[in-house]
Amino acid sequence: MKLFNSICHHCAIIYGEQTVTDFEVNEEGVSKVVCRNGHEMTVVLQNFKFEILFELGLKALEEGYYREAVSSFAASVERFYECCIKIFINKSGLTDRKNYDNTWKLISNNSQRQMGAFYFLFLNEFNETPTQVKNNVENFRNKVIHQGIIPEYVEVYEYSKYLYGYLIEIIKKVKIRCESSIINILMEEVSDKSAKLEYPTWTAGFNTAINITQSIEMIGIKNFDEVLASSSIARNISKSN
Ligand SMILES: [Zn+2]
Repeated sequence: MKLFNSICHHCAIIYGEQTVTDFEVNEEGVSKVVCRNGHEMTVVLQNFKFEILFELGLKALEEGYYREAVSSFAASVERFYECCIKIFINKSGLTDRKNYDNTWKLISNNSQRQMGAFYFLFLNEFNETPTQVKNNVENFRNKVIHQGIIPEYVEVYEYSKYLYGYLIEIIKKVKIRCESSIINILMEEVSDKSAKLEYPTWTAGFNTAINITQSIEMIGIKNFDEVLASSSIARNISKSN
């Protein structure tokens, strides 16, 4: 799905014009972009995967693909737990990548185990019991994803509104205590994405609706209705390069 767009720096330099090209996101977080004048760029996304998945959910909701929206929002929460696990482990000083990767492999195929790891690392970090996604919200997700239920707009709206609030509350807490570890993990992921690229690249972070790297004052400043009302183009203006 084409979610973001990029300005061509070559066109800006050569013609003094702003050429904007929409581009697809993918699993690698590395996108090839060709502007209308044929200039090729490689964009490395400086966003966490859970941020991209939530954005895909919003896009699907806006465009009427309600089942797909539920699937993306649910995946966003799962990848958010993974991201937090990395952040908490980094914060505790365990920076050996091999040990982390080997331990992750033990739970990589089981989202329930990952959620359990998140719960206890959250307890360790904040000395409080983490909030659980409400049972009726989980039940709705399971019915859509596992039983093939076809949801209506209002159900998916309520589902995503709840998850938006759920994620924002945890992000605010993590942001206050773990800022340097958030940056460490982000830089590690960007470095991984860029490692095999041989040609010049443009690293870009986009102002996704859920965004753990933006300043604490900006996190959750929009309520869910305001997020939905802003078009995906307005949300996804690049914030750095
Ligand atoms: Zn160009």
